[in-house]
Amino acid sequence: MGTRFKDFLGEQAKKDLKRTSVPVAILKKGKIKVGGQTYCNLSSNDYLGFSSHPDLCATLKNGADIASSSSASPLITGYTNLHKKLERAISRLKNKPAALIFSSGWQTNVGVIDSLVTKGDAIFCDRLSHASIIDGCRLSGARMFRFRHNNLDHLKTLLQKHRNHYKEALIITESVFSMEGDLAPLQQIADLKNKYKCLLMVDEAHATGLFGENGSGVVDKFKVHNEVDIIMGTFSKALAGLGGYIATSKTLRDYLLNSCRSYIFSTSLPPSIVLGNTRSIELLVKEHRRATSLLENASWLRSELKNDGFTVMGTSQIIPIIFRTPKKAIDISKKLKKRGWWVVPVRPPTVPKGSSRLRISLSYDHSRSQLNRFRDDLVRNI
Ligand SMILES: *Cc1c(COP(=O)(O)O)cnc(C)c1O
Repeated sequence: MGTRFKDFLGEQAKKDLKRTSVPVAILKKGKIKVGGQTYCNLSSNDYLGFSSHPDLCATLKNGADIASSSSASPLITGYTNLHKKLERAISRLKNKPAALIFSSGWQTNVGVIDSLVTKGDAIFCDRLSHASIIDGCRLSGARMFRFRHNNLDHLKTLLQKHRNHYKEALIITESVFSMEGDLAPLQQIADLKNKYKCLLMVDEAHATGLFGENGSGVVDKFKVHNEVDIIMGTFSKALAGLGGYIATSKTLRDYLLNSCRSYIFSTSLPPSIVLGNTRSIELLVKEHRRATSLLENASWLRSELKNDGFTVMGTSQIIPIIFRTPKKAIDISKKLKKRGWWVVPVRPPTVPKGSSRLRISLSYDHSRSQLNRFRDDLVRNI
């Protein structure tokens, strides 16, 4: 292999794109400790502050009394009555007849997409889709058409031109985009799905817990349950647990149970995690005010930053602030760190060239006055 790996790292460093992993200590209330310093964490996906919720942590501890592991894949003996109960909770939350639980969101997307379509089929997916969606598409062998982000005209053009040349077709989008913080126009996408006779899959990783009734998601907000064939999501973000899921029809659940390799050949989640995930869904209903308060804070901060002259995107709890170069994003993130704010710069290839950004993800744990201090520090360091 010669010097391939070293050369790659050298190239990345030259372009300000080299990544490192930094060990972090998790503190309560949206704070972390890194290298002896305490920071307010503006980069986590713990949107509702559930990761330090006493009820949830107690549930996880109790679960560990049952067993430390499920000790098998689901079709052997890893599917327990606890897993079944969690499926029911998801299917109720998502308003779909059936659900299937996976060990991670990543595994869910890769396995489900690979299982749904194959060579001779087509996939139409948003160009800014998460890596796990892209990898699932590639693995499936289906022909992939990527439409410009949230661009209905482009999606329509691609469907008009190509749909008829393929057997089955699958449209995939996220409902809240993780790097843009914006919502997909699901009603219009659902119309196109009907018109062009496609399956529709929606990834609600960043929407679950926040939008729609009881945090069901954007599919619920726009009332398109019937048009969305597969609602996908993860327990690892607002629900502060681990694992992925889909909510779908009984037929598709059975089909995936019989064909989806990432489901069949991977150990199911342990009892503690399954109980925790189930508890989180109960907490969504009980403490929905957390979502309301978070979204209010987010829209407040977004409009303040716009007034301050920043290029700010999105309409959710995720607030990307755009800087033209990776270097600028890195510099500002460093300055903010000195002031006690942990904000990770996001650079290509995670986001398109020329749109390096600070991606602020807000949590229920952040108070309005804290966010106001953050805003002051940002303005002062520009
Ligand atoms: C995080 C994420 C996933 C993967 O979920 P994990 O449970 O973290 O593996 C899938 N899709 C989107 C859009 C995500 O943001």
